[in-house]
Amino acid sequence: MLRCYQVAEFGKPLALSEKPLPQPKGREVLVRVEKCGVCHSDLHIWEGFFDLGGGKRVVAANGGAALPLTLGHEITGTVAATGPDATTVKAGQRKLVFPWIGCGTCPPCRDGNEHLCGGAQKSLGIFIDGGYASHVLVPDESYLLDIGSLDPALAATYACSGLTAYSALRKIGPLKPDHSLLIVGAGGVGLNGVALAKAMTGIAPIVADLDPAKREMALQLGAKEAIDPRADGALKTLLKATDGVMAAIDFAGSNSSFDFAYGALRKAGHLVTVGLLGGTATLPIGLHVMKSVRVSGSYVGSLVELKELLALAQQTALPPLPITAAPLGAAYESLVKLKAGQVVGRIVLEA
Ligand SMILES: [Zn+2]
Ligand SMILES: [Zn+2]
Repeated sequence: MLRCYQVAEFGKPLALSEKPLPQPKGREVLVRVEKCGVCHSDLHIWEGFFDLGGGKRVVAANGGAALPLTLGHEITGTVAATGPDATTVKAGQRKLVFPWIGCGTCPPCRDGNEHLCGGAQKSLGIFIDGGYASHVLVPDESYLLDIGSLDPALAATYACSGLTAYSALRKIGPLKPDHSLLIVGAGGVGLNGVALAKAMTGIAPIVADLDPAKREMALQLGAKEAIDPRADGALKTLLKATDGVMAAIDFAGSNSSFDFAYGALRKAGHLVTVGLLGGTATLPIGLHVMKSVRVSGSYVGSLVELKELLALAQQTALPPLPITAAPLGAAYESLVKLKAGQVVGRIVLEA
């Protein structure tokens, strides 16, 4: 039987459901879930709406997928069964699942950006059933990646929080030794960003977060400094100490986090916005021009980027993101904890 914890009604406790194991067809693969991370996007989908800021709400990231839906898109597991046309994976192999599955035919999909699909999306745990379950049916074997000797719980977090941080840092690229990098927001994704920053940009980041526990964790993961953005004169002090940062990543995405990160940029600086807290920004166009700054959005990442991240994680000793294990049966309680902001690092469910 397949056991899963599903959103049956938005905002209500997840419902345990049992159904017969699906039989993989074509190149589909049935994966026995070992680990599944609990992510902030799960919260948006569970609540059923996404806050755009300014009082505007839209239906969650999945455009209101039909319920019931099994959440969970940070999945590692072992191959349980393969469809008749699957040739590259074998039963028993441990794999990380790339969850950002697109239609395969729309313009972004044709460019290899399935995570930006504008067609009939099949992202696991977002549009179709995901990993808060004993098993997950993956639509194609090409979405299953080797994790080598990586810890399966840590590797699971690479499918979303790690990939999101990786893709944002990749947009920044290598920095010079005298440049500064600012990371705003040290939740699960932001901390993965802190852990990856040195290896990817050459610079230990300055981290801004409201929560002292998250600032402390950021320092442990290699941040050069961790500051409270709400402290008196925090932005002024930062500007004075750095002459403005060359790059900033806003992992929160609120009005205040955006303003702080944007305000910290030096001339020709680059802000990558990642967080989905739902703020609205007003840009001073003249200043934007005079400072020649850039603002880019970055949403999760591509299959190629996830492969690159797995290679990087195996070649480089990255500081490990703190992980709290929880049984699959505690999926709902884990969501509630995350909503309350009580999670430092990542909760990873064990199926
Ligand atoms: Zn996620
Ligand atoms: Zn598509």
